[in-house]
Amino acid sequence: MTLNEKALEIHRRLCRAYHCPIPYFHEMDPIDELVSSLLSHRTRNADSGAAFKELRKRFAGWQAVIDAPVAKVQDAIRRANWPEQKAPRIQQVLAAILRERNALSLDFLADMDVPEAREWLERLPGVGPKTSAAVLSFSRLRRPALPVDSHHHRVAIRTGLLAPKVAVGPSHRILAAQLPPDWTAQEVYDNHEILMLHGQRCCFHRRPACERCPLLDLCPFGQKLRPDAGPLPGRQAEPVASRLSS
Ligand code: SF4
Repeated sequence: MTLNEKALEIHRRLCRAYHCPIPYFHEMDPIDELVSSLLSHRTRNADSGAAFKELRKRFAGWQAVIDAPVAKVQDAIRRANWPEQKAPRIQQVLAAILRERNALSLDFLADMDVPEAREWLERLPGVGPKTSAAVLSFSRLRRPALPVDSHHHRVAIRTGLLAPKVAVGPSHRILAAQLPPDWTAQEVYDNHEILMLHGQRCCFHRRPACERCPLLDLCPFGQKLRPDAGPLPGRQAEPVASRLSS
């Protein structure tokens, strides 16, 4: 089995377990998605969501955020971790978009192909591959870009889709290249969601539940932990009830 075939088989099995298609959890403007993603870095979803809401409540628009004293932006986002770093970063990113495009909008990304759009976004200060993919996939742009979070990354390493030492950043390109190039945005989104959910619901960081994992016969890590367990046709991961944190 090639790696691409294995990626597809994993996708098929996890889609069955978590019931694809997975509903999108929101449909935000791409700039809102970008700011939200910058706030979410190493912060619980509830806290970054509260920080984003407060920022939107206190300022009339993104231009007002650019023009505000940094201390005021920092105070608005204090529920997020490291507001002292995130406030100036958000202002820099918004100012850079305005400078480059003469408008506070990312709608033009809809007309670029995905690699070009990601490259454009990743030229912004502090924007890496996970954020660029999140903006393109989760916002109302709905483009086929694959974000990789820590759960997704852990499952990909353990199942052998990634070599053990590939970091999250470079893993984006490798994992995206394993998916069929003609997949829709929904299929690519599903791939991210089911691997993330599998990491949250079954392939735990400590003590993965390999005994009920539908990927065990494909997973070198699980087979090392449980050399006695062969493939079981009825093995099922827990179904998805609602989206957890990404
Ligand atoms: S077999 Fe175990 S280690 Fe492998 S993906 Fe499943 S839960 Fe994770």
